[in-house]
Amino acid sequence: MKYERIRKIVLEAIQEAVAQGLVKGTSGNIALRDDEEDVVAITPSGISYSTMTAEDIAIVDLNGKWLDGKYKPSSEVPMHTAVMRARPDIKATVHTHAMFATIMAMGDQPELRPITPPQCEFTPVGIVPFTMPGTNDVADKVVEALGEEGRAVLIKNHGMFCCGKNMKAAMEATTYTEEMALTTFYAKLLGTYEPMPKEGEAAMKALIAADHAV
Ligand SMILES: [Zn+2]
Repeated sequence: MKYERIRKIVLEAIQEAVAQGLVKGTSGNIALRDDEEDVVAITPSGISYSTMTAEDIAIVDLNGKWLDGKYKPSSEVPMHTAVMRARPDIKATVHTHAMFATIMAMGDQPELRPITPPQCEFTPVGIVPFTMPGTNDVADKVVEALGEEGRAVLIKNHGMFCCGKNMKAAMEATTYTEEMALTTFYAKLLGTYEPMPKEGEAAMKALIAADHAV
């Protein structure tokens, strides 16, 4: 099978996302860039994840052009490839409709702030206004919101988009963003919401960056 390595990583990631409850039905999509070949493996559109095989994962180029695989790539290809074009440091991208991220992207919520130390790697998590799914418009808004260093954004009335230098990093961003949304939701409900102070967040970010540099 061509592009077997990246196809397998994408398949394992989407199965993990399903197991974690971050993805339901056929929603959500995950992509991984292979630098050597300059291609992107991405989950196909509308295929059940429980029976999906590595061969079913679609291959596109960095402009989203469908190159290989029997199933059409996810309709959110523009979002994944736009981020990879804008950010050469990003190799893996994850888009899900995870429940609490979606809840916290509604109304006039402010950006998500960290509650626990590991979340600081991905904060602050901004909120992108609703734009039609699958369009270059939503792709541009996500790229803009991520900026030069962002790892996660929420998309109003839709879900979240996370990314990283590899699949592990992108999946961690997804897990911790959902955790941040969940803890924020319950803390606000209890009336006890108190995000980490900005100085604490900055110190944690420095610590995490130094640790990752080792
Ligand atoms: Zn979506």
